[in-house]
Amino acid sequence: MARKPIIAGNWKMNNTIAQTKALVADLIPLVKDANCDVVICTPYTDLAAAVEATKGSNIHVGAENVHWAEKGAFTGEISADMLKELGVEYVIVGHSERRTYFGETDQTVNARVKAALSRGLKVILCVGETLAEREAGVTAEVVTRQTKAAFEGIDNDELDNIVIAYEPVWAIGTGKTATAQDANDTIKIIRDCMAELYCPKCAENRVRIQYGGSMNAKNAKELMAMPEIDGGLIGGASLKAEDFAKVVGFDK
Ligand code: PEP
Repeated sequence: MARKPIIAGNWKMNNTIAQTKALVADLIPLVKDANCDVVICTPYTDLAAAVEATKGSNIHVGAENVHWAEKGAFTGEISADMLKELGVEYVIVGHSERRTYFGETDQTVNARVKAALSRGLKVILCVGETLAEREAGVTAEVVTRQTKAAFEGIDNDELDNIVIAYEPVWAIGTGKTATAQDANDTIKIIRDCMAELYCPKCAENRVRIQYGGSMNAKNAKELMAMPEIDGGLIGGASLKAEDFAKVVGFDK
């Protein structure tokens, strides 16, 4: 069974509501014939506008984080119910910027994944090694540890609701991309880990694994041609409609 590719934009802390409306309006006609799932993940403040602007189109909307608690004294945080109420479908969990700047750990990532799934959100789970870890030759250990921790306590029947994004931290926002072969090899390691955690057929048929890290209109074709790569998580290149649409155009 072929895995359907998924291309998701991670806008990070970019775009006001007015800019969101304009970008979505430009994007809709450019991606309407996509063969892959198309997602834009926006700042919280843009979500309602993005949901409204994408109605009737093939673009799905995601948030960039979610808290693990249902509600309570967590100043500045947003719950899964709050996202669901807005019509949000996806949420990124465990992005390296959250891990690096906001104290995200394997345990909090797991708690956020569980909270999101329990409320019917689909998760884009980010894993990936730092430059120091790559240079120390521990990439496989790091992505395996992050994957195992994130899926702790997650049932097999949730596998269709989680997309894994392999994002080598040294390639994010730097213009450096993993070679297509390197990205493919590490994604295979993650898929093997999922086969061990669940079952080989589950990993082969139901687990979609994206590449992320300076993926753009120029390198997307080569990356998307690799057998293990099921799409991309796109940062910088998702902020311009034409660039993002070109990446979407390389769906398999
Ligand atoms: C990201 O933020 O997930 C990302 C991959 O960013 P960029 O494409 O800018 O490297």
